[in-house]
This record gives sequence, C-alpha cells and structure tokens, in this order.
Amino acid sequence: MEEWQEQLRNHVNTLEKLEQFINVTPEEREAIETTKTRWGTTPYFASLMDRNDPNCPIRKQVVPSLKERENRYGIPNYLVWKENRANEEKRPDTIARQYHDRIAFTVVNACANYCRHCFRKELVVDKSLSLKFDLEEGLRWIREHSEIRDVLVTGGDPLLLPDEQIEYIVRKLREIPHIQMIRFGSRLPIVLPHRITKGLLKVLGGYHKVPIWLNTQCNHAKEITERTAKAVYDLLTCGVNVGNQAVLLKGINDDKKSFQELHQKLLTIRIRPYYVFYCEPAPGIDHFRTPVEKGAELIRDTIRGHTTGLAQPMYVIATNIGKIPLMPDYYIIKKDEKEYTLRNYKGQITTLPNIPE
Ligand code: SF4
Repeated sequence: MEEWQEQLRNHVNTLEKLEQFINVTPEEREAIETTKTRWGTTPYFASLMDRNDPNCPIRKQVVPSLKERENRYGIPNYLVWKENRANEEKRPDTIARQYHDRIAFTVVNACANYCRHCFRKELVVDKSLSLKFDLEEGLRWIREHSEIRDVLVTGGDPLLLPDEQIEYIVRKLREIPHIQMIRFGSRLPIVLPHRITKGLLKVLGGYHKVPIWLNTQCNHAKEITERTAKAVYDLLTCGVNVGNQAVLLKGINDDKKSFQELHQKLLTIRIRPYYVFYCEPAPGIDHFRTPVEKGAELIRDTIRGHTTGLAQPMYVIATNIGKIPLMPDYYIIKKDEKEYTLRNYKGQITTLPNIPE
C-alpha cells in the first residue's frame, strides 16, 4: 500500500482519532456528535492543526461547528441552481455547464478533507444530492459537443481515483479532437501531497498536444509545507502547471496579514495565485461568509502595489450565470439590506444574499 493510501486508510474521522491531534472543545465535541454530514481529514493535514486553539485556520476548515446548523442565507438545492442542472439542456449527471466552450466533468464525490465551507457540500459533505458517475456517458456527451474545448475534471477530488482510472480519463479526453486542454481541480497537493507519486506523475506528465493544468485550494499560509512544495515542484517538472483557487473565509483569511501572507507564500512554492472565490451561498456555511466587497478590498489593501504582481489573484463571485470578477471595478448594480444585484460579462443579472458584518 502506498503512503497516500495509508493516509486515507487512517482518515481522521472519529472523535477518538481527532483527539490524537487536538484538545477537542465541548462545542466541537457536540458538533461532531450531532452532525449528520461527512467530516474528516488526513493524518497529515490534521497534524498541521493547532492542538489548543479552536480558532486555528486549519482546524476551522476540518472540524464540524455548531454554526453549521444555522442557515439564514444559504440557497436550498444550491448545487442544482448553481450548476444549472435543472435547465432545458439535457446533460448527464457528470456534466455541469455554465459556459459555451468549457464544462466541469464531475467524476467522484469523495474528498481527502471534507472542508466545512464546501459549496459542493450537498454532493460531497451532506450527500443529499446523489449523481450517477457514469464516465462513459459523460465522455460520450463531450465527444458529441464539438464546441467544448476545455474540460475541468472535478469532484469531490478526482485525484483520489486510482492511477489507472485517471489515465483512462486523460487518454479518452485527449482522443477527442476538439479538446484543447484538461484541467484538474484537486485539494490533494495541500491536504494529501503524498498523492503526487511517481505513478501519478507518469499519468499526468510529459509533453502532449493537450496540456494538463491543475488548480488546488490553499486558504492559509499555515497549510503550506515542504511536502507540498516538493509535490508542486514535481508536478511542474513533469509539465503540469499549478494554480491556486482560495476561498475567502471569515476568521480564516479575511484579515490583511493572513491574506497577504497566503499569496506571498504560494509563490515561494511556485503556485501561482489564480482565483480568490467569494464564499458561495450554499446552506449551512453562513458563518464563513464576509460582505461581498471584502475580497476586492483585501486585494486593493494588501496585494496591488503592496507586493509582486504575480501574487495577485482575481477575486470572483461564482454564480449560476458564471464567474463575476470584482476588481478593480465592482459590478454591483444595486445593494439593499436583503441582497446584492450583480451583472456578469454578458449584461445578465443575478442576486446574492447580503450578509451584515
Ligand atoms: S476538497 Fe473541494 S470538493 Fe472536497 S470538500 Fe473541500 S472544497 Fe469541497
């Protein structure tokens, strides 16, 4: 058994296992004992948590909270709404579409870390949404849609699949003449860098006409270790570009110091900051959300002009009509006590709940 599989076998997903890493508070204990959702992380990521501080930025992403019971602003059936799964275009469950030339290909619903702020929580954490993961059906749909040039392989975490299955997906996508690029969305370089094995590098690496890009999710400088630095170096060396898609999280990275440190430290391990996402209005994660302007303000106040331009991510709100960048100009048309009204690149309008500070 490889080290990464050993890590998964020892997944930290019970109170007893968690207590080996942190002193669990009474609130955390109650949240764990009453949660109906999947939770847990790798022993590696658990070892990065502060033993005594419940406000540790990693701990807050890993350990369930009683605040998850509150849901004033979350949109029910969020993923179905967000990914346009209920519109007139019939697509397989594995295909999520918001744009003309690119799609998300959802291939698995398991993760190595069940992030408490996950916007895909209905699929991944709560499991209230079940999809049929029929790879062949998905590949057939992509083959039949010649306008698709870019496929994002996502989940859950697609790099949890065995090497053979990842190789199959990559090979089949590369055989489709209109596919020009393949992207993977995976948190494993951060929560389980052991997964970047020689075998996986062989599957993902090498010179090909259809390149592979990988975007990971790192939300705090504390998540960056030598182990991750080496995994990223190995990916880059074999030809896979690595970017970061952070989520703006209240109490984790929404202060100036944490925000700047995160983006500076990413560059020291060769990860290019790509996006910072506004924390999406999925149910039960109100406590992670900031006012919408916060991300743009943080970029203005800590990145633009304050540090190297390479450290500057794009701040975006992911909505049901695609991503809306909020920098440097705000595309907020209207804001009242209840909600924001936003405009996308096509002039389309959507709304988002307003969260008081
Ligand atoms: S790794 Fe991604 S999909 Fe999995 S729980 Fe975290 S945010 Fe959600």
